[in-house]
Amino acid sequence: MDQQKICFIGAGNMTRSIISGLVHSGYPAQLIQATNPSQGKLDALKADLGILVSQDNLAAAQAADVIVLSVKPQLMQQVCEALQTVDMSQKLVITIAAGIKAKRYTDYLAQDIKLIRAMPNTPMQISVGMTGLYAPQAISTEQKAICDRLMSSGGEIVWVNEESELDQVIALSGSSPAYFFLLMESMIDAGKEMGMDEDKARTLVQQAALGAAMMAKQNPQLTLGNLRENVTSKGGTTAQALATFEAADMRGLVKKAMENCIKRAEEMA
Ligand code: NAP
Repeated sequence: MDQQKICFIGAGNMTRSIISGLVHSGYPAQLIQATNPSQGKLDALKADLGILVSQDNLAAAQAADVIVLSVKPQLMQQVCEALQTVDMSQKLVITIAAGIKAKRYTDYLAQDIKLIRAMPNTPMQISVGMTGLYAPQAISTEQKAICDRLMSSGGEIVWVNEESELDQVIALSGSSPAYFFLLMESMIDAGKEMGMDEDKARTLVQQAALGAAMMAKQNPQLTLGNLRENVTSKGGTTAQALATFEAADMRGLVKKAMENCIKRAEEMA
């Protein structure tokens, strides 16, 4: 599997995160190429990670076994159309662009392709990402393995069976780091208003968030309800805070926010 030539079209933030994870997990850097219009990002990737770089999308795609499309969604059509002359019959195409449905790539590239849509999130930048994966057609065991290897180098992966589930992935993990940031911001703001120094409030809140996530992850035998009850004494301080959230229907609010997130993903498709 470590013989496959992988080419990333677009050398931005997500590409850097994925390649960094790949190289650090031992994938041969000389089998990885990234393309970008501006040379600066390419030079930095070459210097930091030892990969091949190029400004020529067409030549890089032609030489690759696996093509990772990693440009912004609004550029995807134009970038793919310029690759129409590449014979993709023996290649795997992975796209990480948000919102563009799988069938559109067949039109953009004007040929049948083996495609995987990947929906990562930003914590991939620090190797604790979460990526949802969907293959609209049968792919070989080897192609699935290379995709698993690529995307799990930056965190965890989950395969979904239906393309519509990718919109749920966006609501659950793609967009959700921002929900947690909002909650943390709100807590820090409240702490400041109560007189706490901002830096101290941030340290307290982010360490509590990290601790909660790690406790959830390290105790899969416990439900999140169990974990919550374990830190909630009857009539105590935590119980008072949680009752305030429940009285304001926090669960309903979260559900509504996620439904709106999915609605927007559907509109953008
Ligand atoms: P980014 O940092 O802006 O990277 C995109 C790169 O594409 C830029 O380096 C840009 O180069 C380059 N580019 C522009 N035109 C190109 C062309 N014709 N050929 C080759 N490269 C070209 O964006 P990103 O955050 O990495 O996002 C990349 C993709 O990941 C997007 O489709 C996004 O929807 C998806 N995604 C991102 C996240 C996220 O959290 N960031 C999460 C899930 C999915 P210049 O800057 O030099 O113009």
